Amino acid sequence: MRPKVLLAITPHPDDESLMFGGTLAKYGQDEDVKTNLITVTRGQKGSLGPRYLGVTRKKLGEKREQELRCAAKILKIDHLYILDYQDGEVPAVEENIAVASLIRLIRKINPQVVITFGPDGGYGHPDHIAVCHWVTEAVRFIKGVEKLYYYAIKKDFATSFIKYFGKIPLNGELLEIAIHDAAYIDATLDCRQFTEQKFKAIHCHQTQEFDTKRFDLLRRLNVKSMISDDNYHLAFARGNFPTPETDLFAGI
Ligand SMILES: [Zn+2]
Repeated sequence: MRPKVLLAITPHPDDESLMFGGTLAKYGQDEDVKTNLITVTRGQKGSLGPRYLGVTRKKLGEKREQELRCAAKILKIDHLYILDYQDGEVPAVEENIAVASLIRLIRKINPQVVITFGPDGGYGHPDHIAVCHWVTEAVRFIKGVEKLYYYAIKKDFATSFIKYFGKIPLNGELLEIAIHDAAYIDATLDCRQFTEQKFKAIHCHQTQEFDTKRFDLLRRLNVKSMISDDNYHLAFARGNFPTPETDLFAGI
């Protein structure tokens, strides 16, 4: 029988823990599931905490790679793949070439389930949006992929985030976190058991202390859909999978 294989595809180091951490920890401890993570950049342009100002982009990329490896270990990810694209420049990459090389890698990993950000990028980050397009295009060509899910941000998470932190500045623009209503959500995973592990992984990302502090506050505020469950939209499926689901491998 084909083993169960989960693949998360994220643009930057920290996305895997901040957004997908509960899910990756949950399946990471499941002996029947192999978990894989593709991180498309090394996060060379990440927003630096005050202690790291003056660090070069190259050095930051190296540091963030170490942080990503730390998080992957805590989340018990079986295989981590780090691609060589540049943070902030993902939308400028020739899409056909990127998709072709992603198809080769996904075929090698051979997952039934793929998870990534939706077309809104979670908060409009252009790298997140571009990666969503690449992945959505790629999986259509790979017969073994049975389901593609987009991460969904529930109202309690989004409204708390907006209330406490407002919009997210990026390259002179102000981006807003997405809000996904109940009708968009097809799968909800109970990740309560893995909250501690998720936050340990988040704290590997020392250079991203703005984000870790924000998520620590949301945890103290007990924002349920951020700390204890992960929600997904079923964007693409080969076959008929009744929703709502509580397991991404339901029906596989
Ligand atoms: Zn990101």
